[in-house]
Amino acid sequence: MTQGLNTSKYEGLLDFTITDEMQEMLEMAHEICRNEIVPRRAHMDEHEEFPHEIFKKFSEAGLFGVMFEEKYGGLGLSPFLTVLAIEVISEYCLGVATSVGAIKLGALPIEHGGTEEQKQKYIPPLARGEKIAAFALTEPNAGSDVPNLSTIAVKKGDRYILNGTKQWITNAGVADIYTVFALTDKNKGPRGISCFIVEKGMKGLSFGKLENKMGIRCSHTRQVILEDVEVPEENLVGLKPNVGFIHAFKTLVSSRPFIATMATGLATGAYKEAVKYARQRVQFGKNIITFQAVQHMLADMATKIEAARLLAYRAAKYSIAGHPEAARYSAMAKLFASETAVEVCNNALQLHGGYGFTKDYPIEKMYRDAKILTIYEGTSQIQKNEIGAYVIKDASQLK
Ligand SMILES: Cc1cc2nc3c(=O)[nH]c(=O)nc-3n(C[C@H](O)[C@H](O)[C@H](O)COP(=O)(O)OP(=O)(O)OC[C@H]3O[C@@H](n4cnc5c(N)ncnc54)[C@H](O)[C@@H]3O)c2cc1C
Repeated sequence: MTQGLNTSKYEGLLDFTITDEMQEMLEMAHEICRNEIVPRRAHMDEHEEFPHEIFKKFSEAGLFGVMFEEKYGGLGLSPFLTVLAIEVISEYCLGVATSVGAIKLGALPIEHGGTEEQKQKYIPPLARGEKIAAFALTEPNAGSDVPNLSTIAVKKGDRYILNGTKQWITNAGVADIYTVFALTDKNKGPRGISCFIVEKGMKGLSFGKLENKMGIRCSHTRQVILEDVEVPEENLVGLKPNVGFIHAFKTLVSSRPFIATMATGLATGAYKEAVKYARQRVQFGKNIITFQAVQHMLADMATKIEAARLLAYRAAKYSIAGHPEAARYSAMAKLFASETAVEVCNNALQLHGGYGFTKDYPIEKMYRDAKILTIYEGTSQIQKNEIGAYVIKDASQLK
């Protein structure tokens, strides 16, 4: 088990200092979320309304630019700020945060594996908030079992012809660009997967019905259906076939810390709601927050959120720095923070009593939203499988 860093190359990675400039950006994010998300989130949830208006405000404030490098139209602030900003948005609505996060998720295969030309073409409109991206890996029969893809891409002259169906794709239908994973060599398993940039409007690209979800309902999830979609060869990420699995792996290592901070953000929001409620609810002639059993529940929540946050920040810093242990910590952070969010939302609802079971309080939505965190981007069981592989590796080196 690694406990520290043995090389100066990674010195300072556990320094989570927030500069004044970062703090200003985060305060602005809080303000936009309070003004724009809080009044609308119950309506958006009820009506499965995509947060276009909120995206407009984020774009005007330059918030999408936080997620990208300056040379590709981003603000050029610390990449660590991306996870902090996502954490803030999640405190107010996990559905909005999921749709924002999916833009980065869709862009990551291009950022990790794209050519300079592809980055210059596709990233700046995302950084300006003019376009939306989506990441299309999962299929009806390939969820946890990612290498079992059946979407196929066949080379024909200077194009690839894509056929297949992608399942549960966040932002599908609203997104302008899709990073789509498909087999270019059926006989090579994961080594035969390639990643393509598919653009909305390409002939043969269509979308399934809007999934009627339990939570994060303002985030749109649909199938992406590819029927003889002709993709020019210049849209093959990195212009190299059969290395898509590496792009997908790198993407997930980078994006799982996002899910972890989304979880700490949501848990923080739920914790705050629980404290607010416990301070004003009177039973037995006292505010319920004065009962020690209630304080213990809040103490457990506060402690677990903080532990999840530190793990999430560590994973984020490792992934940004390209640390060799990034995948291990990304899996640990995603597992612990998402399970913590589910537990915190459950207990925060419990502290609301019967009122928490109604739509009169935001905790009901937070409770429903939390569950997805243990499912998407690899279920908790899959994170444990990955951590387990490290356990085995460590075991062989135990003295
Ligand atoms: C709302 C939503 C948004 C999503 N957004 C995206 C997106 O934008 N892009 C994208 O590509 N995908 C997306 N997904 C897909 C998501 O990543 C998958 O749903 C997830 O990886 C699980 O796959 P599955 O649903 O097929 O479950 P399955 O893989 O069928 O798993 C079912 C159960 O079996 C368990 N299981 C499976 N294999 C193992 C194993 N080897 N060991 C132990 N347990 C195992 C799982 O943990 C789970 O409990 C989204 C899903 C949802 C619901």
